[in-house]
Amino acid sequence: MKIPYIDLHRWHQELKPELMEAFSRTIDHGGFCLGKEVDDFEKAFASEMGASRCVAVGSGTEALHLTALALGIGPGDEIIIPSFTFIASAWFAQYVGAKIVFADIDPATYTINPDCIEALITDRTKAIVAVHLYGQPANVDPILKIAAKHGLKVVEDAAQACFAEYKGKSAGLVGDAGTFSFYPSKALGALGEGGCVVSNDEELLERVSILRVHGSKERYYSHYIGYNNRMEGLQAASLNVKLPKIRSKIVRRQEIARRYIEEIDPEKFQVPLPVDWGASIYSVFTILCQDREALRSFLSEKGIGTDIVYPVPLHRQPCFAELGYRDGDFPHSENAADNSLSLPIYPELRDEEIDYIIDTINSFCCSAK
Ligand SMILES: *Cc1c(COP(=O)(O)O)cnc(C)c1O
Repeated sequence: MKIPYIDLHRWHQELKPELMEAFSRTIDHGGFCLGKEVDDFEKAFASEMGASRCVAVGSGTEALHLTALALGIGPGDEIIIPSFTFIASAWFAQYVGAKIVFADIDPATYTINPDCIEALITDRTKAIVAVHLYGQPANVDPILKIAAKHGLKVVEDAAQACFAEYKGKSAGLVGDAGTFSFYPSKALGALGEGGCVVSNDEELLERVSILRVHGSKERYYSHYIGYNNRMEGLQAASLNVKLPKIRSKIVRRQEIARRYIEEIDPEKFQVPLPVDWGASIYSVFTILCQDREALRSFLSEKGIGTDIVYPVPLHRQPCFAELGYRDGDFPHSENAADNSLSLPIYPELRDEEIDYIIDTINSFCCSAK
């Protein structure tokens, strides 16, 4: 059996007639940069989230950048960010000239450990970025408590956690602002780049919406230094096709995760266990293992694709060398980077493929011992 790590082709083939129709509609009305499709998507996404408004931008990275600007973060400020995440979480601070302060993760959830935060706060700290990594909401309430005590903002990087829930609320709407990515491989992916910002703070969203079009509220009048960070109409059109179907896709991801959690041999591999504060949407499913390279090549020989998400924790990234972190500073982030392996978990996986993945993984432990 041949099972790639990720396979967008399966769903896209099925959606092709609807996608072509949506593209044709967009060509007809001509809303290519913002415009009708983006307006429709913003309304539908906000309503699905239970938010009053959503501001669509060109990518999850742009969402993070504009949110940092809209919150007034800049040089001299310090931002607390988990050391195990995708690099763009750190661009939130870097792009606006703020200083990155890394924190370790909770090994059970791969998300920022609230207990590590308070010791990092100085009188320059301005915000905490909680990343809902792999689709698992970080434990935001204790973070909000710390933030309230010290007058800090909490931003949720929900790029991987579209429609995940934290204590009954949509992930992304718990803190001061939430950012999302619609990169093709995310749980809700466009056919190219896309992202958005949600918040309960109308003024913040208004600032983001002005910053994304050259800092102008009124065409050709720029009141602020802005950017070209618009979502494209064709991307919004593809998202409008997928959005109504995404809840059932997430249920399928959760079903596959449940099978992995129940059936992968717990003596040999550590699977992420559900936590009581919020359900993961499992945009990535990662296990910890003893001999990752051997397991990875064994699975590859058996036709199963895997990925390492992520091999380098941010404090070890060459671009952040001058921050002065050392090996050993964040043991749980380092352990995740060194020993984790991510398995296929797309909703289009067939039951017999899931059987095969589980059987093959479990047979590796038998033959390795
Ligand atoms: C994908 C991702 C981003 C960046 O989103 P893009 O749309 O690729 O710019 C940011 N943070 C996390 C955690 C991500 O997974």
